[in-house]
Amino acid sequence: MKKLTNEDISNALDHPVFRLIGDTADELDLECYVIGGWVRDLFLQRPSKDIDIVVAFKDASKRQQQDNDKTSGSRPGIMLAEALKKKLKKANIAIYKNFGTAQLKSKGVEIEFVGARKESYDRNSRKPVTEDGTLEEDQNRRDFTINAMALCLNADHYGTLVDPFNGTRDLEDKIIATPLDPDITFSDDPLRMMRCVRFATQLGFHIEDETFDALGRNKERIKIISQERIADELNKIMLSPNPSKGFIELDRCGLLELIFPELAALQGVETRNGRAHKDNFYHTLEVLENVAKSTSDKEWTDRENSPFESVKDHTLWLRWAALMHDIGKPKSKRWDPTLGWTFHNHNGIGQRMVPNIFRRMKLPMNEKMKYVQKLVDLHMRPIVIADEEVTDSAVRRLLFEAGDDIDDLMLLCTADITSKNEQKKQRFIENFKLVRQKLIDIEEKDRIRNFQPPISGEEIMELFDLKPCREVGVLKSAIKDAILDGNIPNDHDAAMSLLLKEAEKIGLKAKK
Ligand code: ATP
Repeated sequence: MKKLTNEDISNALDHPVFRLIGDTADELDLECYVIGGWVRDLFLQRPSKDIDIVVAFKDASKRQQQDNDKTSGSRPGIMLAEALKKKLKKANIAIYKNFGTAQLKSKGVEIEFVGARKESYDRNSRKPVTEDGTLEEDQNRRDFTINAMALCLNADHYGTLVDPFNGTRDLEDKIIATPLDPDITFSDDPLRMMRCVRFATQLGFHIEDETFDALGRNKERIKIISQERIADELNKIMLSPNPSKGFIELDRCGLLELIFPELAALQGVETRNGRAHKDNFYHTLEVLENVAKSTSDKEWTDRENSPFESVKDHTLWLRWAALMHDIGKPKSKRWDPTLGWTFHNHNGIGQRMVPNIFRRMKLPMNEKMKYVQKLVDLHMRPIVIADEEVTDSAVRRLLFEAGDDIDDLMLLCTADITSKNEQKKQRFIENFKLVRQKLIDIEEKDRIRNFQPPISGEEIMELFDLKPCREVGVLKSAIKDAILDGNIPNDHDAAMSLLLKEAEKIGLKAKK
């Protein structure tokens, strides 16, 4: 972390909006600070869009008076936002009186105003009872020391850092720690446990020992958190530069077992007659890291009917596929006296587990889930092809089944080669090159990637005067298989002559 001088801080705050907010707060006799993520990211020199402003009465007696009268319009965040609204006629300021917050949106930046708060928690909910408080009380309720720093916007202390928990030191030392007793911080709002691991992963920070131990002690409290919020944090972990760190931390503190037991079950090595299998949890994390490396700045090419909303979205779901590619292994594990440990059909078992896991975790049940499921299902195919003779028909079938996802599948399978045996690794990589080249050649020749049968079901029904029936499916499959096996080219004439022969075999005659 670069040490910021006072001048750097003044430069960062040298924006007319910050000045205006500070001056307006002064006019209303309010204290006002930028706080939280924006301040943290300023020190880390990371881009940050959202700006949180916390506002408090300078005079404690005014707060008391306000507490007694309880009219939302007299809450400090709202008072400041309303005054700004009068000054900034063109700005888009939304005021949420019920929540005592306001939001100013301008040029892609969002500024949120909220009154300083003091919180108390009920054991069954992460929603606190709040009352207006001082800046200090507001900082006490923040999740981590690095998220509790505030910069003053009032003219007499403009740019002064208020850092009661030494957040800057923790930023320098790369440490995630809670401001107060971590057992209280995590038990009050257990989502903070997921945030703890998420920030450690995103920033590559170490979780301070006391804080880490409290994760273990409070892990059961995660049960009061909604799956959607947990999934949200998992997705942020997934998109971090080194996502495996997050899963290692979640596992070490015992949270993984509770939120993703199928992944935790991949762990462990069993040895029988001197034969051991690899630890599939650490293998999975290695594959995830390999995929993360290959997708960190990947420019995905746009494709028709893409299920992805953005580059980030595409990266995310490919990483999920990496995380889940071997999820079926524990259920498929067998001991065979001659072969040793086998995981026969773990891909098939795994792909069947995907929808249930997605449903439980409140991940999307749409084409994104289907994409992950397909990659899990097909992830052994390129390896099997590369391990044997690379035949045209095997490659054609793979292209047919993977369709537009073929490049993602190849990326995943390349990432899956984690063998420590360099010779073996090299052989796979060489054979993969062959598979890739064949994929290109065959696609060019046969256009299998977006395979459309050269003769449709309607045409077959019309030709043989059939209603929809089993025979139509049989004939369609015969044409598809002949093309994929390379017995006939992918064109209408060849398909027609095969169709007539196959139809005759099952006693069908074409109309005159
Ligand atoms: P990011 O945008 O990457 O999620 P952030 O720190 O800006 O990071 P927000 O969720 O926007 O995260 O929260 C803003 C600030 O609010 C945090 O920096 C922290 O001070 C505080 N905060 C958010 N969630 C909690 C929580 N569950 N418990 C305590 N403080 C929180």
